[in-house]
Amino acid sequence: MSEKMPITGLSAVELAAFVAEHGEPSYRAVQIFKGLHARRLRSFEQMTDLPSAFRQKLNEIAVISTLSVESRYYSEDGTRRFLMKTADGMPVEAVFIPSEKRDTICFSSQSGCPLKCDFCLTAKLGLLRNLTAGEIVEQIVIVLNDIYGVAGETPHGTNLVAMGAGEPFLNFDNLLKAVSVMSDKDGLFIVPNRITISTAGIVPKIIDFAALEKRPNLAISLSAPNDELRDRLMPINKRWNIDAIMRAAQVLERSLRRGERFTFEYVLLRGVNDTAAHAEELAELLRKYRLKRVKINLIPHNPAEQLDYYPSAPEQVARFKRLLESRGVSAYVRRPRGSDIYAACGQLAAKQEANLVKITASGRAA
Ligand code: SF4
Repeated sequence: MSEKMPITGLSAVELAAFVAEHGEPSYRAVQIFKGLHARRLRSFEQMTDLPSAFRQKLNEIAVISTLSVESRYYSEDGTRRFLMKTADGMPVEAVFIPSEKRDTICFSSQSGCPLKCDFCLTAKLGLLRNLTAGEIVEQIVIVLNDIYGVAGETPHGTNLVAMGAGEPFLNFDNLLKAVSVMSDKDGLFIVPNRITISTAGIVPKIIDFAALEKRPNLAISLSAPNDELRDRLMPINKRWNIDAIMRAAQVLERSLRRGERFTFEYVLLRGVNDTAAHAEELAELLRKYRLKRVKINLIPHNPAEQLDYYPSAPEQVARFKRLLESRGVSAYVRRPRGSDIYAACGQLAAKQEANLVKITASGRAA
């Protein structure tokens, strides 16, 4: 028997082609697409608007759910962390962060991550594999259903951030496919300007991204104002250094539409990159490259036993922010969320490495 088609990552057009292959009219594809995404149904049995014979057939030829939830952690601040597993046993993490205005879901683009940012726990896993578009979309559906129930209304919409495990721009095509599926008005209808992609600085992809017509917001993780320090904190800098990133940022800035800005993220590490001199150097960098439509998100580091870094003191964070602002740079401090359940930035994959199986390039377990 041929393998079942995982259909959660298919666009409406691809779904129409799939049902046509099986002799069904295109309106069936619309019903399925709405069932999967707008109603967030998790089985064909729940799609009662389809004839029962067709539902039975779908069970034989297609599969909705490829991720399973292994565990959930609940933070005192309302944040929820989800540990999921792919059908082939790879770990996937997503985090729900509630807020009075608009909730945020932080999702993963890869299982593990090949980059070796020194302050990040996910880096310890290495890359296990890229996630498919369907596995990316499914994380959002699973989290929304867990919070609001299947088919439940989201009370005030949802922001998405690709800041979980992985480097999104090393899984560019699947990521963009997922964004396109999630923004479909017949589905989840989470439009690109409510989605933010965070990259560690894969320069050619920043350029490709700048050329896209419909695209999410972009955040570039900088975390150091000079190459010497950034080489150490984010070794990807040896491949694309700060000059290359700043030039790519200039291309991105020129492509922004009215009112749009992009973000540099800066993880603040006590005594490492958080001094007044670093703030001055950062402001000078933006001035040198004439970057104006940018804001800096300051992210106090989240401590973890396995890492030799500590968060900057609150007064140091405030001072860093003030110094940037005094040089005309917009700067914001991101409040850490869910750090008690290891859901905060750079903490994903904590306390679970032992159970992992690494997959080699040939796709075999090593
Ligand atoms: S910070 Fe992001 S890009 Fe860097 S290792 Fe961690 S998950 Fe990968």
